[in-house]
Amino acid sequence: MQQEVVPTVIIIGAGPGGLTLYHSLIKNKDKKEFSVKIFERETGPKDRWQGYHIGFASRGIRSLMNCIPSSIALNLPKAIPNPVPDVEYHGASINDHEGNVLMRPPFKQFKDIYEIAEIPDRSLSMTVAYRDRLRDVLLENVPVQWGKRCIGYEETKEGVYVNFEDGSQEFCDILVDASGVNSPVRKQKIPELQINDIGATYVNANVAVPKHLMDRLIKVSGNSLIQKTLGLNGDSTLIALRLIPIEQNQNYNPDEIHYRATIGYFYPSELDNDENENFKVDDNNPASVAEHVKNMIRKLRPKCEMTDILLELWNLAPKAVPNKSDNYYPFKTYNPIQRRKVRDVNPLSINSWKSSRVTLIGDAAHAMSPLLALGTTNAVQDAEALSQALLNYSPENYISCIKEFDDKMLKRATVDVLNSRKVTIKQITPVGYFGLIIRNSILRVTNFLMKVNDFIINVM
Ligand SMILES: Cc1cc2nc3c(=O)[nH]c(=O)nc-3n(C[C@H](O)[C@H](O)[C@H](O)COP(=O)(O)OP(=O)(O)OC[C@H]3O[C@@H](n4cnc5c(N)ncnc54)[C@H](O)[C@@H]3O)c2cc1C
Repeated sequence: MQQEVVPTVIIIGAGPGGLTLYHSLIKNKDKKEFSVKIFERETGPKDRWQGYHIGFASRGIRSLMNCIPSSIALNLPKAIPNPVPDVEYHGASINDHEGNVLMRPPFKQFKDIYEIAEIPDRSLSMTVAYRDRLRDVLLENVPVQWGKRCIGYEETKEGVYVNFEDGSQEFCDILVDASGVNSPVRKQKIPELQINDIGATYVNANVAVPKHLMDRLIKVSGNSLIQKTLGLNGDSTLIALRLIPIEQNQNYNPDEIHYRATIGYFYPSELDNDENENFKVDDNNPASVAEHVKNMIRKLRPKCEMTDILLELWNLAPKAVPNKSDNYYPFKTYNPIQRRKVRDVNPLSINSWKSSRVTLIGDAAHAMSPLLALGTTNAVQDAEALSQALLNYSPENYISCIKEFDDKMLKRATVDVLNSRKVTIKQITPVGYFGLIIRNSILRVTNFLMKVNDFIINVM
């Protein structure tokens, strides 16, 4: 009897989407076996800065748990630490420019990340993960082929030839591109699908916040792990934090506890075109970018305790490669702060999406504004959905498997892309005095209704 040939799946990109897919395909080996190869353009795991805090909704954690083997799940708390009871509030809050809470939807609290995976989707429970450590945890036992930048592919009836910048070529049955927003595969497969500039600019920084400053922040705006403050003139801030002290090395006794936080400042891009502005920001000089953010905060926000706290937080943004002995700096690699445009990709903005041997997951298919923190959640959900669809793979029906995945992915992700875009556009629209009263009232009423709804659901 002729032995069945094991089909090959090639994954491009070792980010959260690509790595989760790898684990899931291997985990399902008993049901359907694939030879899985994963290629990454970076030259090694420590090549590049791996990011700040990222938000994870309960549905994302659930998909992640379904995809990874138990050995990796055991290590997950290193990247997504369990909640600190009575200290952290694992949810998001929207606050006004003074820090007063406008909306803090009721979240079902949980004791560990395994429990959050069980929480129904209608609950807005979420947590904050350390992206750099998540990458490390997911890399375990994955034979990534480093230094391999994909530049394109050729699809034939028999399979796909994948081309790399170093001149090499690989053959596979299914090509999955998980290479993020600038995906070369998307540009080739669907050239008409454009990256959309939402009209917002943002600056992000990793900071180590001393306890006295964190205490002031919590006093003013509460202990939600994801906190937004809405300004009056189209500017807003996003802070993602964990109230877990940064580990210090044993020989070092810091005078004060510090915490990891990610701070982000968003504003309408058109404000950068102000000809009357005296200060010219230089994106190649992080000190100038930090000064620019502080100038904007001073210009766009009234003086108050929240404004002072924001200015102090931006003082902490590293302006040069941190000194090796700087124990307060908790991130492995340094990424100079820069202004960036908020961009997204709406996969349903084109007339038709043709399913073939080449498919896309994560940001490659549907990059979204970071304001709702749903990018990683969707990438991981894609990985689960694709690995499930591929369980039915056969050389005859591969198209229906990919189509099943594409349909599911497009439906879910498009909603999140468009919601994230809508929220971003709303936030960069200046409201004026009366608009402010209306906006804040709407948010407060919505908050009240969400609480009533949650109460009813819990009682019934
Ligand atoms: C370095 C980095 C830091 C980030 N930091 C944050 C953050 O702090 N907060 C946040 O909310 N989101 C952050 N994001 C985005 C967030 O992680 C993603 O939205 C989300 O996880 C989607 O994951 P993904 O796997 O689809 O794509 P990504 O996370 O973008 O991963 C794509 C991977 O593909 C690799 N790659 C790209 N092009 C090629 C190529 N041509 N050939 C081979 N490999 C390629 C990249 O190096 C990367 O490792 C970051 C993304 C990156 C790449």
